[in-house]
Formats: sequence, structure tokens, C-alpha cells
Amino acid sequence: MSNSALSTEQILAIDKAHIWHPYASMTDAPPSYPVVSAKGVRLKLADGRELIDGMSSWWAAIHGYNHPVLNQAAKTQLDDMSHVMFGGITHPPAAKLAKLLVDITPAPLSKVFISDSGSVAVEVAIKMALQYWYSIGRKEKNQLLTVRNGYHGDTFGAMAVCDPTTGMHHIFQDVLPQHHFVAQPQCRFDESFEEQHIADMKAALEQHHQQLAAVIIEPIVQGAGGMHFYSPAYLTRLRQLCDEYDVLLILDEIATGFGRTGKLFACEHANISPDIMCLGKAITGGYLSLAATLCTEKISTGISQGEAGCFMHGPTFMGNPLATAVACASIELLLSQPWQRVVANIEQQLQQGLKPAQDLAQVAEVRVLGAIGVIEMKEAVNMATIQKQLVDEGVWIRPFGKLVYTMPPFIISDEDLATLCAKIVKVLSLQ
Ligand SMILES: *Cc1c(COP(=O)(O)O)cnc(C)c1O
Repeated sequence: MSNSALSTEQILAIDKAHIWHPYASMTDAPPSYPVVSAKGVRLKLADGRELIDGMSSWWAAIHGYNHPVLNQAAKTQLDDMSHVMFGGITHPPAAKLAKLLVDITPAPLSKVFISDSGSVAVEVAIKMALQYWYSIGRKEKNQLLTVRNGYHGDTFGAMAVCDPTTGMHHIFQDVLPQHHFVAQPQCRFDESFEEQHIADMKAALEQHHQQLAAVIIEPIVQGAGGMHFYSPAYLTRLRQLCDEYDVLLILDEIATGFGRTGKLFACEHANISPDIMCLGKAITGGYLSLAATLCTEKISTGISQGEAGCFMHGPTFMGNPLATAVACASIELLLSQPWQRVVANIEQQLQQGLKPAQDLAQVAEVRVLGAIGVIEMKEAVNMATIQKQLVDEGVWIRPFGKLVYTMPPFIISDEDLATLCAKIVKVLSLQ
């Protein structure tokens, strides 16, 4: 049975009977929307309707869909090789990507581990931190410290540093490693920072630093755990505290990386650099699954000269040529454009376009940072109802809980963005 032989009804029937979707029920899920193609900022449904994409497929498709430059990069690489193992072998696209990433991330990051997905990049980061301290003879430093309302992925290591409530830690408490949680950053992006805003974090560092391998945090934007934008000064102070207490700093830039917040990497808002950085999502412009974990030479040397003599990780599809080739093309495409101006323009348009939502009784708050627009509702939205209303209005966004948010592809036109915002506000007024 070839794909083209399936009718929409057949696809939906198979989907309902057999396919898990992200964070979905297998017995009580609303039907999925069948998408047959996508181009620019438009998703085409099987029934012919076209939706303006406000999600960039979860932060990833920054250049929109079906981009000729990225298509060509994939086709060219396909004709050379789509994959080859990375043990004992290297290849041009991986080398090019590693050099690109080292060049564009903050200076002390110079070693690159290329993996398959964001969660794995986080696993790798955690493992690097733990193996580093073990290797230099401080194996008691094997716990992590993080903030509430964080999101770092769905695998076990990553899950153990996600928000305990939204991550439903109690279900997995017998198998999850126990780490330390403190209050989320108490100072919003545009508020002025005071020491009390980081008091909880500081107290935990003071109390536990002997056992702490690293602090892990999403810089500036806490994404899936609450779409919370916090002060760069918090991050600057956190860097100082980590140094003071000899604890590594892992920054998870998987959602924020590649320009989304108005800086290429969100840590640039605070002019700091981490010891370990995780990248993913937009790294291939949303084409293929790929992620990277960067670290400093101090960490790579510590690990390499320790008991194991090597870093204990090596996924089968590590450094995949097809994905790394598209990543190079996507990053070069981004850098070849006035992306700062583009993101600043989207920010302004989002502020303007979403502002009317502030007047709705259902809305608690509207906030915008870079190419991210968030409307926090007073009550959780009814997903099944609101999703259909949004699709009927011709836009694709995917709210969760009280959060209705958009992070459109950077290529969106002013006109489409105005439509997107107006439709979102209209649908929210119906809730
Ligand atoms: C999406 C995300 C992850 C997990 O990435 P996956 O590719 O879904 O495994 C980790 N951290 C942050 C901040 C993310 O937004």
C-alpha cells in the first residue's frame, strides 16, 4: 500500500486506531488534522484549506516550509550520502556545522557533540557535567539544581529537571533521579533585578554546592513550562553564583537559539556564556531531527583525562550527514539575512496585533519577546473546541492549558502576521 493510495478517511482511521501523538490520549483524543503539504508559512490540509502557521512546528521552521535553499541542501547531500556511522569516520557537513556552531556561540564553547534530538542533547549535557566532576575526582558532585516551570525534554534525565508538577514527577518518582528545585526566576524580562529575585537559587547553591554538578536552566524564556520571560540580570547573577560556588552552568537554548528572542542565542541578552549549551529545534530550520551539545575545553579535557578516557555516549545516528548539511544551510541562510531587523519587526507586529486581547475579560496577560507572542488566559482553554475554531479561521497555533502562544516563521509577511494575530484575538473572544 503506497502513501498516495490512502484516502483521508483511511489516514484518519489509522491515526485514531494506531498512532500516538505528542502528549495525547489513545482513547479520548480529538481527531488530528491531516496536512498534505506546506510551503512558506502555509500548511495545506487534505480538504484543500490553507492555514497560516503560527507555530513554526514548535520553534523549528524559522525559514518556513519547502524553502528552495534548504531543499537544495538536502538534495545535494542525498546524492553524496544520507548517512554514515560517526565512529572512526568524519565528513564535510559535520565538520562545517561544528565550525559554524563554535563560531557563532559564545567563545569558550569549543567542543561539539552532535545528536538526534533536543532531549538527547539535554541527556548529553547532564552526562557531560556528571562525568566531568567524576573524572576530576569530585564524584560527590552528582546532583542538579534547576528552577520550577522549566522544560528540558521527555527522556528520563531531562524529565527529572522538568517542572515536577507539569512533568508529573510523582508518577515516575521511584525511577527519576532526585534533583533540587527552586522558584522560577522572580524578575520579569523588563523589570529591574534585585538580589531578592534570586535568593532562593542562591540559598540552594550555598546549601548544596558540594553535591551539585550543575545548574540547568532555559535562558531568558522558559518555554513549554509556562512561556515566562525573565530578566537578563538574573542570568548574569546566576553565572556569577555558579562560578562562586564552583557549579557548572548548563543553558538549554533548544527553543531560544537561532534568533527567536532577538539575539542569536538568548544568553547574549545577559552577555554570559555557559559551560555547556544545548541546541536543537531550529538548528535545521525544522527539516530534520538534529541537536547539539557544546562545551568548553575545560570540560572536554576533564572528561577525556578521567577514568573512562572518553565521553560515554555515542548514538547510532550521531552527526547524520543529511541533517548536518541542512543545518549548515539553515544557519548560513539565517546569517545572510538582516534577521535582527526581521525579528524586531515581528516583535513590534505581535505587540500591536495581540494588544486587543488585553481587553478581553478571559485574558490575564499578553506578553511579547522577539518573535514570541503569548496570551495567558485566566482559565485553561478547551483544546478540542479552540483548535477547531482556529483552523476554521485559517490559522494554526496549538495552545496548551492557559497559554495561547505563537512563534511564527521569521519569513512571515506583515499581512499574514496581522491576519494571524487578528484571528487569534477573534477566537479568544469566543472562549
Ligand atoms: C523542545 C525542547 C526540548 C526537547 O527537545 P526535543 O527535540 O523535543 O527532544 C528541550 N528543551 C527545551 C527548552 C525545549 O524547548
